[in-house]
Amino acid sequence: MSRINVMKPWIGADEIQAVTEVIESGWVAQGPRVARFEEEFGTAMGAEHAVATSNCTTALHLALVVAGVQAGDEVIVPSFSFIATANAPTYVGARPVFADVDLATGNLTAETVSAVITDRTRAVIVVDQGGIPVDLAAIRAVCELRGIVVIEDAACGAGSTYRGRPVGAGADIAAWSFHPRKLLTTGEGGMLTTSTTAWATRARQLREHSMSLSAASRQASVLSPAEEYREIGFNYRMTDLQAAIGIVQLGRLPEVVRKRRELAERYSIALAAVPGLRVVSDPEWGTSNFQSYWVEVLPDFPTDREGLVEALARADISARRGIMAAHRQPAYRDWVEHNVPLPVTERLNDNTLILPLYHELADAEQDRVIDAVVQVSSTRRRGAA
Ligand SMILES: *Cc1c(COP(=O)(O)O)cnc(C)c1O
Repeated sequence: MSRINVMKPWIGADEIQAVTEVIESGWVAQGPRVARFEEEFGTAMGAEHAVATSNCTTALHLALVVAGVQAGDEVIVPSFSFIATANAPTYVGARPVFADVDLATGNLTAETVSAVITDRTRAVIVVDQGGIPVDLAAIRAVCELRGIVVIEDAACGAGSTYRGRPVGAGADIAAWSFHPRKLLTTGEGGMLTTSTTAWATRARQLREHSMSLSAASRQASVLSPAEEYREIGFNYRMTDLQAAIGIVQLGRLPEVVRKRRELAERYSIALAAVPGLRVVSDPEWGTSNFQSYWVEVLPDFPTDREGLVEALARADISARRGIMAAHRQPAYRDWVEHNVPLPVTERLNDNTLILPLYHELADAEQDRVIDAVVQVSSTRRRGAA
């Protein structure tokens, strides 16, 4: 019996070939492959402009800078997210304000956002948590009235759809991740997408030290024209090595999403009827890529979440305690004092777990996970009989 991990990137011979070509070309830093990856990714996600970055966290930072978020502003974020969502506003001196999430999707809603809007709210960062699309239109309606910028942290969302379009396409700016935990990986990497040309142009310069000319374009000229540094920028570049992998992975995204949705469906058929479990599903407004397939352990299940995680571990299956809650981390100890209560976030953080789901998960392996869960679910009833 071999270990079943929660996630395994699907990466192989085509990526090796693509990276080899980059090495042989002699240009490994940000260059033509990054430009091509940006173009193809933007097209696939329905975005006018795409700016590649070193990761999603840096894309979020750039998004806040170009949107004009400043020190003293408030940025509404879900606590129920990877910590980078909450951290990003602090990089521009703004204050993350935590809003609660919806029990069914784990995402912000118009109601939870409205509850924490103040005169200082400058932006909201919505998340497509685990790939489940956020109900963006309702949140936009609330924000547009007040001139609040809507940034979508679509780190988990490549391949998910909202009202028939790719997620991210309806936000003012979206940020994407290509970390191996996501569906499409470049090792590390990220992207910022937007339809606002001025924001894309500025983000493109900021990610490369705010140079007036890119290193690639200077290199292309024998004269190597002098560059100018227009404001204080960053080095948030992606490399051509990463972009070459990204181009291959992007081509496979539809296949990856189809497979993940099939596996999610198999889980749901087997587990939805298990007493004491609640399984994640598509919301009415879109489709998930099932970057994470989570279940909530309800009070009438024979064990709590910890008990189920431990039982799976004994079967050599590595499930994960569900999505984190930033407001419960030591880093945010001093921030939460004046925040509203977050009961749904805490309930989900305490009771959900993520089951293994990845492209190469075999049916027999998935059946092992299902059997292990079902076995735990039947313990009390067996004992009571
Ligand atoms: C993974 C993730 C990030 C961070 O992405 P990096 O590319 O690792 O910086 C940010 N937000 C969410 C919601 C994520 O899941």
